Amino acid sequence: MATTTLDGSATTDSLIALEDAHGAHNYHPLDLVIERAEGAWVWDVEGRRYLDCLSAYSALNQGHRHPRILAALVEQASRVTLTSRAFRNDQLPAFCAELAALCGLDVVLPMNTGAEAVETAIKAARRWGHRVKGIPDGEAEILVFANNFHGRTTTIVGFSTEAAYRDGFGPFAPGFRVLPFGDLDAVRDAMGPRTCAVLFEPIQAEAGILLPPDGFLRGLRALCTERNVLMIADEIQTGLGRTGRTFACDHEGVRPDAYVLGKALSGGFYPVSAVVARRDVLDVFGPGSHGSTFGGNPLGCAVARAALGVLRDERLAERSAELGAWLLRALRGIAHPDVVEVRGRGLLIGMQLRVPARLYCEALQARGVLCKETHDTVIRLAPPLVVGRDDLAWAAEQFAAVFAG
Ligand SMILES: *Cc1c(COP(=O)(O)O)cnc(C)c1O
Repeated sequence: MATTTLDGSATTDSLIALEDAHGAHNYHPLDLVIERAEGAWVWDVEGRRYLDCLSAYSALNQGHRHPRILAALVEQASRVTLTSRAFRNDQLPAFCAELAALCGLDVVLPMNTGAEAVETAIKAARRWGHRVKGIPDGEAEILVFANNFHGRTTTIVGFSTEAAYRDGFGPFAPGFRVLPFGDLDAVRDAMGPRTCAVLFEPIQAEAGILLPPDGFLRGLRALCTERNVLMIADEIQTGLGRTGRTFACDHEGVRPDAYVLGKALSGGFYPVSAVVARRDVLDVFGPGSHGSTFGGNPLGCAVARAALGVLRDERLAERSAELGAWLLRALRGIAHPDVVEVRGRGLLIGMQLRVPARLYCEALQARGVLCKETHDTVIRLAPPLVVGRDDLAWAAEQFAAVFAG
């Protein structure tokens, strides 16, 4: 096996072998090794070009290496990158103000990864339940939904219904009740005096782009208000333009009590996440009760501010709505016995197959389109929202060719 190409750089095969030998095997990636990217396109180490139709699970809504975010990163990195929260920095105030305004809520608590922000929301909800709602300490319950995906910490996988996420990782934390997704009657029945919050994804992306019935979000909002329960929307994947609105909750005109955000919050440059909530929810945290060394660091804040600026100035939510509607129609035009259904909102689209999706993803890869299966039988399509109309039309042609026969 050749380990280098003529110009001396490593080959795909040698890099895969090296990673397999020394990296943990907790992923099953497609066999290509990316070395460069721009906008919606990536290049592998042998110089082949691919259209990225995954966007790092929607972390790259603004596209790879957006020049405005790159400039903010470089500029900030040349001044100060990390202060810890022991001292203040000059980027955090505007980041909090701008993000709170975007969400129509009061207060921001910055973290790094999505799972950490979900953990933060869980802690806030439990303490709010105790201190504000009057639930006895240690007895608060959070309602969640079957097929949820909220991250990979031990607490979070403890209320997953997916065996692969849980097996062998117990014992798990109590305090969660799992309900069928989209079932308002189940929510109504489950809400009791000890319920502090409902934690949900407005569209279950990881589970295979599962949309709840129309009216579910409005119903959830009404129940949470009526029963004094916090409505916590995990929009880490669906938020920031992905589904054709700023937040997926906007499709039903609903504002939760807290958003959990991450992924595209930093446009793919740097892990930045946050809980954005009403003042009374995050006011349960006083000094010393919660924190993160890197949370709210000036580099992350500067990058996130630029990422939010791109989202706004390039009208990426509108773009997602328009291009997504077109792509959904194009994919629904494909008639093939292996295709059960194509569903989605904006540029978050799932193609439900009757068979494992992996072989189709590999066939698409061979034609220069990168997609990844989710839950075995679903092809997830989530290209960067900056993707060109022509590029998307070309991708649709590759889908048509792969499903031609
Ligand atoms: C990706 C994701 C998370 C976890 O984010 P990480 O940054 O991977 O920890 C949580 N919730 C949802 C809905 C996600 O899509």
